[in-house]
Amino acid sequence: MRLPVHKTCLCLLTACIAPLPQAQTSPVPAEGSADLILHNGEIRSPEGWHSALAVRQGVILAVGDDATALALRDSDSRVVDLAGATVLPGLHDLHVHPLGAGLNQQQCNFPQGSSRAQLLQTVATCAREQAPGMWISGGQWDAASYGDVMHRAQLDEVAPAHPVALVDISGHSLWVNSAALAQAGITRDSVNPPGGIIERDDNGEPSGVLRESAAGLVRAIIPPASPEQVRAALQWSLDQMVTQGITSITDAGVDAAAMRAYAELADAGLLQLRVQGCMMLRGAAFGRSENGTPAFVIQRNQYARERFRPDCVKLALDGVPTDGHTAAMVEPYAHTDHLPADAAKGLVMVPQAALNDIVIDADQRGLTVKMHAAGDGAVRAGLDAIAAARAANGYSGLPHNVAHNSFVQMDDIRRARSIAATFEMSPYIWFPNPIIADISNAVGAERMQRWIPVKDAIDAGALVVAGSDWPVVPSFNPWVAIETLVTRQVPGGGGESLGDAERISVEDAIALFTVNAARQLGRRHELGSIEPGMLADLVVIDRNPYSIPVTDIHATQVRMTIIEGEVVHEVTTE
Ligand SMILES: [Zn+2]
Repeated sequence: MRLPVHKTCLCLLTACIAPLPQAQTSPVPAEGSADLILHNGEIRSPEGWHSALAVRQGVILAVGDDATALALRDSDSRVVDLAGATVLPGLHDLHVHPLGAGLNQQQCNFPQGSSRAQLLQTVATCAREQAPGMWISGGQWDAASYGDVMHRAQLDEVAPAHPVALVDISGHSLWVNSAALAQAGITRDSVNPPGGIIERDDNGEPSGVLRESAAGLVRAIIPPASPEQVRAALQWSLDQMVTQGITSITDAGVDAAAMRAYAELADAGLLQLRVQGCMMLRGAAFGRSENGTPAFVIQRNQYARERFRPDCVKLALDGVPTDGHTAAMVEPYAHTDHLPADAAKGLVMVPQAALNDIVIDADQRGLTVKMHAAGDGAVRAGLDAIAAARAANGYSGLPHNVAHNSFVQMDDIRRARSIAATFEMSPYIWFPNPIIADISNAVGAERMQRWIPVKDAIDAGALVVAGSDWPVVPSFNPWVAIETLVTRQVPGGGGESLGDAERISVEDAIALFTVNAARQLGRRHELGSIEPGMLADLVVIDRNPYSIPVTDIHATQVRMTIIEGEVVHEVTTE
């Protein structure tokens, strides 16, 4: 019995000191040909422009002239003539909500501004397509466009066999039918909940319109999406993003259902995008006990896959800097002389001591923290918490980040680099847009001059990345974002511009989506630039953003998206 054990030890020892045997299979042949060659194009590498590149087993083998790349061709190589098209590194969207976008898509939606006829016709169609008894949810209505007094009876007529709940454009009110009221137990005897209104008709019956917290009475009973719906919603959104050249995203708020769906998609071979998942913490800190930690955070490594990394947590520090004053500002909002000083500045939703504990704890656990911070007061609180984590733990290598950064004080911009804090900017909301007027009115014109201070942050040497926040904004199109980071105007240029002083170059705008993003994800050794040895995440586009007029960049057409050498999206032109 002893001898085999002894013998095993000897073998191990021998293996340690002897040269590796020749016969072992290696996944990377020392020499060989390319699986994929792109040539006759304009390819951007850190040194400049090249015409060709070659890829083997997902890794870039060579970048150079056509002869260099084509020399690696064999009978199995796929050779693509780019016909002058441009190749950039694949793009990263560091803040997106694909599940929400996909679920919206599955709902009963009608265009904003729909008339009574348009709206009711859409609901009737949804009712025909949906099995009786299933909920019909959708939106978004406004009373002015509807042009009539909204009443549950109008919905009952077109959808008698379904509970219906339609949200308005503000998101604060629901219009529901009789079946939905019945299921929620709302009758003529129901009293208004605190902070909400159950609107009544002339007979004293609930009309079907529910305001604020009263809408919550119905929202609470709408069944959550099924696992199949969650998977389909995610798949739909991810497919959309791949068509625009996005190869990697950060899902800025996953829950257990989303994490399970990502894992299932990956196991079925359907997850192409690289996804970082930020697990949503609502209110609760971790605590060191299981009680303080959501179960899905504990289970994260059961859901982790090669293309799905739940290595991040998300929390919200404030709201939005509009008339509701929910973003936390360092200085009071405009026109608030009548309010007490605290109310006039908005409020950071997490007390500083608790926030510091969360970030210190997450940092110790190896989890990156992403904090929603729109107002400069919330950004300051987020940076203070990151500073507290650095002081407590030393530099962990984790790039904790504040997201949105609509307003940031210069003092805070200057200290971000020294505490290794990243600014994740939202470059989709500065061209004329209804919310801008609301924000400008709330904070005053002077603060709008540095609205989303991208240039200040870059000049200060901070790491700056970009996220769309889709579907909170209607588009995730990165080419629109790249153009408007440079112009601060509507796509195509012209009209009003917003925060002119914060314009950046095309080079810097593309860096936000490529090299900076790769640094943020801790993957700069693999992603972010086109060089031999890097993973082949690439986008082929119909124009060169470095040489065309900047106002043409928004219309960029993606010809091909490649993730780790695999063509995941391709437009064939006849
Ligand atoms: Zn978001």
